[in-house]
Amino acid sequence: MDIAFLLSVTQFAADKHRHQRRKDIHASPYINHPLALAYVLSNEAGIEDVTVLSAALLHDTIEDTDTTFEELTERFGSTIASIVLEVTDDKSLPKQQRKQLQIDHAPHSSYEAKLVKLADKICNLRDLFDYPPYGWSVERIHDYFDWSEKVIAGLRGVNAKLEYLADQLLQRRSEISGEFKYEVQFLEPVG
Ligand code: NDP
Ligand code: ZN
Repeated sequence: MDIAFLLSVTQFAADKHRHQRRKDIHASPYINHPLALAYVLSNEAGIEDVTVLSAALLHDTIEDTDTTFEELTERFGSTIASIVLEVTDDKSLPKQQRKQLQIDHAPHSSYEAKLVKLADKICNLRDLFDYPPYGWSVERIHDYFDWSEKVIAGLRGVNAKLEYLADQLLQRRSEISGEFKYEVQFLEPVG
């Protein structure tokens, strides 16, 4: 039953993100990112809570697609919908304000939302090392690390394994230098 439910959540997210791509040079399918969150939570942090895994799979649907809170509530229940809403930025606000609100809101988030947010930060920091956004300067990647570190500070205390994974990534920051993945900036993105 849990498997059927998780697959229906996965199918829904894949359909909603169908035409979206990540910002890396290969313009990877967007759904790889929600799948990566669910993988980190289940396979790296040992989290088996279907509610948390579902919220991870759906975490960018309200923010980045036409999905509404009501739609998620109807399909998957109000608990999952509420967690997704908690990790959704208000895109009508200016970017810097949105960034600050993530820092401010992190410590006051629910336990489940903190797990999803931690996984989101882990996956995005990993992407910065392995598949960085096309055209980002080293300075911009460092800025993103600074900001991520501040959000992560407000998410501590919920899961030691996730915290360890996040800290490992934050400690690798010095690897980002002038030589870092620079070749990709001279290529055109695909797709
Ligand atoms: P954005 O919010 O524009 O982009 C980062 C977001 O893109 C991630 O949080 C992630 O969000 C998503 N994403 C998609 N593909 C990738 C990928 N391959 N790797 C990582 N993330 C990906 O970035 P910011 O505006 O936060 O820019 C970072 C910092 O740089 C900021 O602090 C900003 O102030 C600064 N800045 C610097 C500029 C400069 O030229 N120096 C210019 C503009 C900003 P999700 O999980 O939702 O998909
Ligand atoms: Zn995300």
